[in-house]
Amino acid sequence: MAVMVEVDARRAGDIDGILRDVKLTGKVREQGRPALIMNAPQTDDELWRYVRDTWGIELVREVHPDCINKGHEAPFTAFASAYFARDETALWIGSRGLAGKTYLMALLALPETTTLGAGVALIGGSLDQSKLAYEYTTSFWELASAPRHLLIGEPTTRELKLTNGGNEYVHAASSKSARGGHRPRLRLDEADEFDLNKNDPDMIKVLDDAMGQPMEQRGLHPQTVISSTHHYAKGAVTVLLKRIAEGELDAHKYTWCYKESLRRRSDATGEMIGWLSQAEVRRMRGRMRKKQFEVEVELQEPSVEGRVIDSDAVNNMFNPAYNRVLLPPGTRQGIRGEYIEVPCCGEYLKTLTPCLSHTYVTGCDWGRKRDLTAIVTYRTDTATGQWWLVAWWSDHKMPWPLLTEHLNQRVRRFPGRAAHDATGLGDVVDSMITVSVDPVILGGGQSGVRTKLFNDYIMAIEQDGLTGVRVEAAWYSHYYLTKNDLWGSGHPPDDFVAGALAWGLRSELIDPGLQIGGPVGPSVVEGLR
Ligand SMILES: [Zn+2]
Ligand SMILES: [Zn+2]
Repeated sequence: MAVMVEVDARRAGDIDGILRDVKLTGKVREQGRPALIMNAPQTDDELWRYVRDTWGIELVREVHPDCINKGHEAPFTAFASAYFARDETALWIGSRGLAGKTYLMALLALPETTTLGAGVALIGGSLDQSKLAYEYTTSFWELASAPRHLLIGEPTTRELKLTNGGNEYVHAASSKSARGGHRPRLRLDEADEFDLNKNDPDMIKVLDDAMGQPMEQRGLHPQTVISSTHHYAKGAVTVLLKRIAEGELDAHKYTWCYKESLRRRSDATGEMIGWLSQAEVRRMRGRMRKKQFEVEVELQEPSVEGRVIDSDAVNNMFNPAYNRVLLPPGTRQGIRGEYIEVPCCGEYLKTLTPCLSHTYVTGCDWGRKRDLTAIVTYRTDTATGQWWLVAWWSDHKMPWPLLTEHLNQRVRRFPGRAAHDATGLGDVVDSMITVSVDPVILGGGQSGVRTKLFNDYIMAIEQDGLTGVRVEAAWYSHYYLTKNDLWGSGHPPDDFVAGALAWGLRSELIDPGLQIGGPVGPSVVEGLR
């Protein structure tokens, strides 16, 4: 009963809401079985107030003035359309992180389960992604105003159940799991992460299996939301947009960006709306690659034109499913200053130290005026000759003693050959490098050394010569690399250069038999037995 009192206190003035909870509670307690809640919100206003009063969120109902001509819609418009099942399928396209799509999807499950008694199925591009949405949902249940009397037990890590029949379930990102269950509300998160079918790239794995599942439940209309950032030029969202354009998929597209969520004064009511501060946007911009910010936050269309490296090859190189050494699969962001270390083999997991028995290669590109510095390390002695990424770091320009110390530490931790771009470096800097590193004079423009290094590295990527976990920032540098970056007025990204420098050392490695696809080096599964 304590919960009810707190709900009442928060809701002074919302008589309808209080009555609804009282009736709801009465009904459930009286009959002790699932009941369809007849007095669920019936209008957008009622829904908006319910979400504010019970779940503490004031959803933005206005498009940002900058976005009216871009066809953006208010997040609440997408939210209400899904709740009332106005479109059987809705595609939400929004900025990553800042648009709060995953958050909104999680929030949507709350009125759906509590007021409609709906079954909600969550599937993300990865199990981690689905769980993220679900964790948001369960955190809302900890609010004092949450109708906890509806809960049957505590939510588990995959499922929550309510006395009114409402429930929420997190599916694994597999076809088998996606086909299990016919909950009327299907929520697919970060759809661009779903793989396309290798043999038929117009088909989307898992997502297509899930799409046919929702069924009507006690008079409740099925409704599907597919939410994503559009960042692959050849990915699931591109396929879905094509289906919509060709009339193959009947779905309404809702687009909004971070500006819709910006904290600002409403043009309509004069009140403050939104939750996102300008400072937060600046912080995000500072942490992301320029291209990444443009595509993911400013929602520029990912372009295919002018790109240099085959996209499938880049996806294999920075592979979200990489788990060769019992790693949890998934994506590492690679934000500025983040050091990422990946196990060299199963042995690493016991000591959390790279094995000294492997062969490593390190490449380093120094940040000059505005560039970043990047240091990448690969393990090269694998059974197939394919190089595995073991360490990655990139950061802003900083004083030379600090920068060089990063390289010194890296080569001490992963002993082996290393190379850096020594173009224009003075003796003073040189003296700060205390480990053995090959100085390479890359030069600018079309210099022969540069051209050969870059071409060799690109060829190696396209022949699957290098692989590892998905480091989002590095993926962007390689996926969106253009001819202009390499040979035109642009400049090649630091971690691309670092990778090329590392690859350039392959002919100098001690194991002479090393070649891509060649059966040399110790077993892949060493240390796992
Ligand atoms: Zn916008
Ligand atoms: Zn190892």
